Amino acid sequence: VRRAISEIVVVGGSLAGVAAIEELRGRGYCGRIVLVGAEAELPYDRPPLSKQVLTGTLSARSCRLRDDDWHDTHEVELALGTWATALDPGRRELTLGDGRTTSYDGLVIATGVTARELDGPRLSGVHTLRTLDDAQALQRAFAHGSRVAIVGGGFIGAEVAASARAVGLEVTLIEALATPRARVLGPTVGTVCGRLHTDHGVHLRCGVPVRSVAGIDGHVDRVVLADDSIVEADVVVVGLGVRPAVAWLDGSGVEVADGVLCDAACRTNAPGVVAAGDVARWPHPTLGSIRVEHWQNAVMQGCAAAAALLEPRRTEPYGPIPYVWSDQFDVNIQVAGEPRAEDEVAILGTPDDYRFTALYGRHGRLSAGVSFNSRGATRRVTRLLAAGASFERAQEAMHDPGPLPLPAVAFIPDPLGEVT
Ligand SMILES: Cc1cc2nc3c(=O)[nH]c(=O)nc-3n(C[C@H](O)[C@H](O)[C@H](O)COP(=O)(O)OP(=O)(O)OC[C@H]3O[C@@H](n4cnc5c(N)ncnc54)[C@H](O)[C@@H]3O)c2cc1C
Repeated sequence: VRRAISEIVVVGGSLAGVAAIEELRGRGYCGRIVLVGAEAELPYDRPPLSKQVLTGTLSARSCRLRDDDWHDTHEVELALGTWATALDPGRRELTLGDGRTTSYDGLVIATGVTARELDGPRLSGVHTLRTLDDAQALQRAFAHGSRVAIVGGGFIGAEVAASARAVGLEVTLIEALATPRARVLGPTVGTVCGRLHTDHGVHLRCGVPVRSVAGIDGHVDRVVLADDSIVEADVVVVGLGVRPAVAWLDGSGVEVADGVLCDAACRTNAPGVVAAGDVARWPHPTLGSIRVEHWQNAVMQGCAAAAALLEPRRTEPYGPIPYVWSDQFDVNIQVAGEPRAEDEVAILGTPDDYRFTALYGRHGRLSAGVSFNSRGATRRVTRLLAAGASFERAQEAMHDPGPLPLPAVAFIPDPLGEVT
């Protein structure tokens, strides 16, 4: 039975939740909105946490996503510092950490992900990085530490390595694969990523997984690798990926499988419940079942999920071109599309000075573009991807500086600026 919507609860007080609320209000929804968020802070942006917050060039306050009166102007009731602990879709009721319940007509799940930790005893000096508290703890550790070991050469590990070097620390980046980013970007671009770090004085330990971390008197002092070699460190940062924050949905009947399962329009199997952002897994029209852990998707999917909530008959599939950026040292890296290690790669430009674009091809089609310090390239790649360009045509179009005879694609630039 469809209900008129006059009470919406958004669970997760971060990027996707804020985007969903703005879309609801932007579409003229004037009923009640409650924002339930586990963190006590007003919604803030995570990308600076591994960059400017660690180097001390941006304060915690400057990371806020919106002005302090945003919730008043958008008429949002804040329940921050409050966990959602259970959901009863039959009664349309959400249970909060303090035992209170709140009812809803519509609910947005935007609980994101949590950082994976290493197995073994807890030692001080071992950090993960997901929240502002994590970033501030790590910044303090940087101030007192001298040798940092980073476990995992993904974007977050690589950014932390760059920030640690920027504040003068000795850094070892440990990656189980042959190069950082090899699993996604493949060996050619992975090698460039590795060289970027060694050029800036990072010690790279690739090809050997970590066995454990160990220490004295409860404080970490080394990382032990699978070949018994040791990396000495007084600060260890674990960057081994994330898990969707879905434990609170146990027993609710909302389908979960490495994320909250949605249909093509971001609706879950529970009536009136949609999901968005890092936590949501959905059937992308061309890429199959995916979950995307990037900033731009959290914004766009928050909007799509809000639209699906207000328009029960909406069937328009949510099918963005995935996009992520990363800043490491003086290099801005942008990835559009879904590169895979086994894709063909064509390099345009000069990797030696970190100014190039790598085009990825799969079955004769363009599958992705990765650009280093070439901001304008990403929008071009995105339009070629949206048009389903062949790998050959994409290479020609990227060489030719003329205008592209292709429609523009909706694109939200990253918060630091233009991508054109
Ligand atoms: C250090 C760092 C750097 C990043 N840098 C980049 C970058 O350079 N480029 C890029 O594209 N992306 C970057 N990202 C990724 C980007 O920030 C995420 O994609 C984005 O934050 C996802 O937003 P979200 O709202 O889906 O989830 P999140 O931001 O994870 O927010 C989810 C919120 O829900 C809350 N929550 C969880 N469970 C519950 C519960 N049961 N009850 C109530 N609240 C709950 C959490 O506490 C959290 O506040 C970075 C992420 C991190 C951590």
